[in-house]
Amino acid sequence: MERTLSILKPDATRRNITGAINAKIEASGLRIIAQKRIRLSVEEAQQFYAVHKERAFYDDLCKFMTSGPVVVQVLEGNNAVEHYRTVMGATNPANADEGTIRREFAESLEANSAHGSDSSENAENEIKFFFSDIEIVA
Ligand code: GDP
Repeated sequence: MERTLSILKPDATRRNITGAINAKIEASGLRIIAQKRIRLSVEEAQQFYAVHKERAFYDDLCKFMTSGPVVVQVLEGNNAVEHYRTVMGATNPANADEGTIRREFAESLEANSAHGSDSSENAENEIKFFFSDIEIVA
């Protein structure tokens, strides 16, 4: 069993499709063991995406991630990190496989509906960033 951090991004909350995305997550076999709707501050978004600080899209990305509510989640399942990356699809929805969250729901490369941790080490840190132990109920 492994855990990963998921964020349903502001484009998903704005279009009221978080339930549709959750249905896809659950149908894939992953279990949502923690979930809350929050509004990120600019400082939180900058800290969360600090690895991308030098990238040209960093400021735009932080602005987008604070443009509306997000739903942060802990997902659990076999090989959850890699499995959720597959369920989400490629970063750019134009390159995402049929049936993936991003292919089905993303608006653009930036507004791509979902975030998923890219390694189990990052997953652990990202989960701690948003959740305390008592908020996670496996
Ligand atoms: P991910 O792990 O698939 O989410 O992709 P990355 O870690 O490379 O990028 C983080 C997030 O930044 C992506 O999910 C997009 O929302 C956004 N992003 C990535 N590349 C670009 C880009 O070239 N332009 C813009 N505006 N946003 C981008």
